[in-house]
Amino acid sequence: MKTYLIDLDGTMYSGNENIPGAIDFINYLQKNNIPYIFLTNNATRTKLQNKQHMEKLGFKNIKEEDFFTSSMAAAKYIAKNYSKRNAFVVGQDGLKEALIEEGFKIVDENVDFVFVGLNTQGDYQLYSRALFHLVNGAKLIGTNKDRKLPSGSTFKIGNGAVVAMLEYASQQEAFIAGKPYDPILNEVLSFKKLSKEDVVLLGDNLETDIDLGYRHGIETIMVTTGVHTVADCNALGVYPTQIVKSLFELIK
Ligand SMILES: [Mg+2]
Repeated sequence: MKTYLIDLDGTMYSGNENIPGAIDFINYLQKNNIPYIFLTNNATRTKLQNKQHMEKLGFKNIKEEDFFTSSMAAAKYIAKNYSKRNAFVVGQDGLKEALIEEGFKIVDENVDFVFVGLNTQGDYQLYSRALFHLVNGAKLIGTNKDRKLPSGSTFKIGNGAVVAMLEYASQQEAFIAGKPYDPILNEVLSFKKLSKEDVVLLGDNLETDIDLGYRHGIETIMVTTGVHTVADCNALGVYPTQIVKSLFELIK
């Protein structure tokens, strides 16, 4: 039985509203003991905040260990591959929690890494301080490169745009952990002791969720409740294994 790696925004919910079929689908997985992990680029929420957000939307029996975020992937990858642990954070609670769990110290001097996750309170002072550390030798780490975030009928600045700003200013290319980049996949598989054949990637975004699976020969399911449509597959040259209009179609 495969483990579902399930995207959140655009797949389970859209902002503060759950997507029709999502709660039924999770209930179905739970009832049939089908394993799943929520795999999200959202770096802002802690595991508890993620659980509380979903429960507020009506999901039941959600556990903190059900979540694997781009913050966790970034922290785990850097902890495994480098010995230094001084981190400056442009980000919120979710990123701070992930770094502390991996033994990082959150500092504003002698900085080894500048970790950038979305910070909706981020301002010129904070970004300039990050730049100060980068030009003094710190390495730039982005949790994800999401360009923009859907917000009602329009968009807000995504973390990728902030990472790009710091890349431009520091003339340093960032390391990126989140979908469609490989670290989040490798880290979740290693953490949950799974291999590529054991998982199905389920999500709404061809450029992140589906592209990650497509490039790795992993089974993918696209649900057209979020950012992309069937027509986008040809436009982007990314092809999911299966496309569904609603998660109700996956309930057998
Ligand atoms: Mg999504």
